[in-house]
Amino acid sequence: MIHIVGGGMVGASLATALARQGRDVQLFERQPFVDSDPGDARVSALNSATLDWLSAQGIHPNTHPFQYMHVFAQHASAELRWGEATVPLGALVVNNHLQGVALQAAERAGVQVRFGDRLSWSDGLILNDQAVESELCIAADGARSQMRQQAGLALKPRDTGQNATFLRVQVEPTRVDTAGQVFLATGPLAFLPVAQDQAVLVWSRDIQAEPLSQSPQDVADLAAAAFEHRYGAFQAIGPATQVPLFDGHAQQYHRNGLVLVGDAAHQIHPLAGQGVNLGLADAASLAEAIQRRGATRSACAQYARQRYWANEGTRQAMRALQRVFGQQSGANNALLGLGLQVFSKSKILRLASQYLASGRYIRVH
Ligand SMILES: Cc1cc2nc3c(=O)[nH]c(=O)nc-3n(C[C@H](O)[C@H](O)[C@H](O)COP(=O)(O)OP(=O)(O)OC[C@H]3O[C@@H](n4cnc5c(N)ncnc54)[C@H](O)[C@@H]3O)c2cc1C
Repeated sequence: MIHIVGGGMVGASLATALARQGRDVQLFERQPFVDSDPGDARVSALNSATLDWLSAQGIHPNTHPFQYMHVFAQHASAELRWGEATVPLGALVVNNHLQGVALQAAERAGVQVRFGDRLSWSDGLILNDQAVESELCIAADGARSQMRQQAGLALKPRDTGQNATFLRVQVEPTRVDTAGQVFLATGPLAFLPVAQDQAVLVWSRDIQAEPLSQSPQDVADLAAAAFEHRYGAFQAIGPATQVPLFDGHAQQYHRNGLVLVGDAAHQIHPLAGQGVNLGLADAASLAEAIQRRGATRSACAQYARQRYWANEGTRQAMRALQRVFGQQSGANNALLGLGLQVFSKSKILRLASQYLASGRYIRVH
C-alpha cells in the first residue's frame, strides 16, 4: 500500500496517477472537502504541460484559457507581450475546484480517500496512534508539512518580506484573454482573467510598505491605476484576502520510506505562477519513476535527481526576477527599459520565454 498524506491539488492528482497504474493507494486529507464558492479568489495559472498531464490522468477541471501575457514595470519605457490568438498560453483554475475534481478522479481510480485521520511520522507512518506498514509514504501536506519536519528533512523557510493580497474583480469582457503583471517598487501585481468578465488580482507587497486599504473597492481602484488602466476599471467582488509568502527548499527529498512532493518540498514566490505547476511536475515525475522501478528507494532517488534542480532553478529565477524588478530607481528603470526593449525585439528570446511559460522545460515525459 502507498500512503499519501495531504489531499490538496498535488496529493490528489498523484494518488489518481498511481491508482491508474494499478497500485493500492490510500490518501489522507486533514479537512473534509467543501466545495467553495465558484467565485473563490484562490486561483492558479496552469501551463500547458500541466494541463496535458492532468488530462492524461482523467482530471478535467473547468478552466479559463488565456492567449497572451503582458509584463511591464512601472516607469520603465518598454514592456513585454507574448502569445498568439490560436494557442492558449495557459489557463486559470480555482484551486478548490481543481482539488475537488482531482479527489473525485482519485476515488474513481480506486484510491481510498479518508478525511480527518491523525497522522504523524516516527521512523514510519503513525495513523491514529498506530504504526502502519507502508510500501512508500508520500508527504503532500503543503508548505508547513509536519511529515517533513518529523522525518528530519530540513527546510529553512525564508520569509520573503512580502505578503500577497487576493481580490476577485469584475472587468470589461474584452480584457479577459490576457494575463498581465506590473512590477511596482513594492512588489509585483498580477491580473489573472478567470471568467468572461472577471479576473483575480494577486498583489505581492513588501510587509514594510504602507498597508493597502481595508476596503476591497479601494484596492481595486489602486490596482487599476497601477496597471495604468490598461485593463479598464475594476469592480471589487468579495473580500481582499491576505497571505504571507514563503520561499524554501528541502535539501533532501526522501529518507527511510518518506518522500516529499509539491509545497512540502519547495515553496516559491508566486510572481510567475509556478508553484502548483512545479508540484504537479513532481507528481508526474514520481509517478513515472514508480511505474518504472516500483515504490522503491531507487524510484525516489530517480525522482529527486529529476526534480531537485528543476525546482531550484525555477526558484532562483523567481528570486532574480524579484531582485531585478524590485529595485526601482531612475538608473535601474532606464536599464530595465533597455532590457525589456532588447527582449521584446529578439525573436529567439521571445520564443524562449513562450517555451518557459508553457512549462515544457519541466515536462518529464
Ligand atoms: C498568493 C499565491 C498565489 C499563487 N498563485 C499560483 C499560480 O498562479 N500558479 C501556480 O502554479 N501556483 C500558485 N501558487 C502556489 C500554489 O498555490 C501552491 O504551490 C499549491 O497550493 C501547492 O499545492 P500542494 O498540494 O503541494 O499543497 P497545498 O495546496 O498546501 O495542500 C496540502 C494539503 O495537505 C493537507 N494536509 C496538511 N497537513 C495534513 C495532515 N497532517 N494530514 C492530512 N492532510 C494534511 C491540507 O489540508 C491541504 O489540503 C500561489 C501561491 C500563493 C501563496
